[in-house]
Amino acid sequence: MRRAVCPGSFDPVTNGHIDIVSRASALFDEVVVAIGVNKSKASARLFSAEERMEMLREATKGFDNVTVAGFSGLLTTFCQENDIRAIVKGLRAVSDFDYELQMAQMNSSLVDVETVFIPTSPEYSFLASSLVKEVAMFGGDVSALVPPFVLDRLTVRLAEKRAAESAGE
Ligand code: ADP
Repeated sequence: MRRAVCPGSFDPVTNGHIDIVSRASALFDEVVVAIGVNKSKASARLFSAEERMEMLREATKGFDNVTVAGFSGLLTTFCQENDIRAIVKGLRAVSDFDYELQMAQMNSSLVDVETVFIPTSPEYSFLASSLVKEVAMFGGDVSALVPPFVLDRLTVRLAEKRAAESAGE
């Protein structure tokens, strides 16, 4: 059984993530999408771990061999505990590669795991959750970049955030 993990924070899941998960699901028998739920980073997130997980479950429900899980601590420990030998990462640009290469080498020095890089589809090469949030926050149209149910949640959450910020002013 060839099992892989697609790790990330998915705050929120974008069409770029779904593209990588879909391509990984065609290469491996089983794919676990693993959401980092480290408490230390929780305040920096727009969505809670539970919300991010719900959106990912919805986004991946069409793939029979994909499951969604949360992990805290080291990804390599998660891999060991779940008998996973491959980490799948999408590569957008050379800037991704510098960091990802270092991470891949560190991870394989810790446990028996390979990192498999999948080049981003050109239409998603500029797409990142952080940018989606920023553009949406200032009223830009991100409807082509995230699934409709993510767009709905994003719109509601950003309105709440704006209201909270103006109340605090
Ligand atoms: P992190 O917070 O760790 O950067 P993200 O949730 O933003 O994680 O993304 C998780 C992973 O998904 C990234 O490491 C990258 O491999 C992949 N990814 C994200 N956006 C894209 C995209 N537009 N195209 C291809 N891969 C992507």
